[in-house]
Parts: sequence; structure tokens; C-alpha cells
Amino acid sequence: MVSRRKHGPVKLKGLGAKFGATVRKQYGMIQRTLKQKRKCPLCGSLKFDRIAVGIWYCPKCQYKVAGGAYDINIDKLRR
Ligand SMILES: [Zn+2]
Repeated sequence: MVSRRKHGPVKLKGLGAKFGATVRKQYGMIQRTLKQKRKCPLCGSLKFDRIAVGIWYCPKCQYKVAGGAYDINIDKLRR
């Protein structure tokens, strides 16, 4: 087996060494935002997750709400 050194603190899937550093950094930031654990605003469950782009859903209380594409709170992503 060939041993490989891991680069960086967070291993990201998807882009490999392609597309340049800026795009990969942005992709990493978005992925990290997306994979965050979120609390359902209704029941407080951590299962609150995105089921489609802009649609957020809690399987525990069936609460469904429209939000940002990568985060429920779009104000946080705006600069
Ligand atoms: Zn809920």
C-alpha cells in the first residue's frame, strides 16, 4: 500500500486538485456551512436539514421552510 499524506485540517470531497485555489476555498466554505448541525426552530431537534436547494426540513416535527441555498439564515452569508 502506498501511504498518502493528508493535506489540510479538513478533508473535502468533490473537486480534487482541479479548478484553482479560489474556487476550492469557496467550495470548502459552502460545504462546511452546509454540513453544520442545525437546530429546528420549532422543536429544537438537530435533525433539521436541507432536503433540496433552498428547502429546509425537520423529520421530527415535519416542519418545512424555505431558506437560503446553503444556509437557512441568508443574512449570515451576505457581506
Ligand atoms: Zn422540528
